[in-house]
Amino acid sequence: MSNNTPWLVVESLCAGYGESRILDQVSLRLDEGQSLALLGRNGVGKSTLLLSLMGLNTHQGGHIDWQGHSLLNMATHQRAALGIGWVPQERYMFPSLTVEEHLTVIARPGRWNLATIYQLFPRLQERSQNMGNQLSGGEQQMVAIARALMLNPKLLLLDEPMEGLAPIIVQELLAVIKRLIQDEGLTVIMVEQHARMTLSITEQALVLDRGQAVYYGSSAPLLADSENLERLIF
Ligand code: ATP
Ligand code: MG
Repeated sequence: MSNNTPWLVVESLCAGYGESRILDQVSLRLDEGQSLALLGRNGVGKSTLLLSLMGLNTHQGGHIDWQGHSLLNMATHQRAALGIGWVPQERYMFPSLTVEEHLTVIARPGRWNLATIYQLFPRLQERSQNMGNQLSGGEQQMVAIARALMLNPKLLLLDEPMEGLAPIIVQELLAVIKRLIQDEGLTVIMVEQHARMTLSITEQALVLDRGQAVYYGSSAPLLADSENLERLIF
């Protein structure tokens, strides 16, 4: 792979569920170390795009290439093995596993191990022996992100990590995600309803409306143009 091969190229993607088309001609490109905010109102197809990257819905047209190779004929587990990590919108905790078990059940060697994860999320170290059903919503979301990091993904897909959390926890998680993007150089696609916060920590943004891209470009100008942002998202 040459240095200028982009990591992820999505070109004219059409996808949905069975016959029903949700995404219509969506394109994006992400290079190593880049971050993308995936924004838009409820039901516009944000989670559907992440599901397409993981191979979990119906592909209807276009291309998805990862490090120069098509993902289209690859199963979900193969995409994960290639380094695509996904934190779904639902948190999927196991009530009878401890925090530490959640983190160590599946792991791959790399930057993130139990020690470095506990540095990133000190709160999870405090809760390491708590069961999955004894955690707050914010702690569950930290476990979900930490569990994905323990696989040491090259690309991390985050689906509304701050959904339903108290403002103070939102700030705590945002600081962690900012650190992952800006200090660790992790390649990230982040779906969020907190548009301004997300734009402030990402380089690029893709805004969807009814399955189509209505903005694709740098995050900063969209953040600066309140009128346009309101029109596209709120
Ligand atoms: P939200 O912000 O509410 O999470 P979203 O942008 O993630 O919304 P999607 O979940 O991608 O939206 O849904 C896009 C469209 O696809 C919606 O009309 C939704 O009803 C439909 N959809 C989602 N999942 C399925 C499914 N499993 N089968 C059929 N249609 C689905
Ligand atoms: Mg969604």
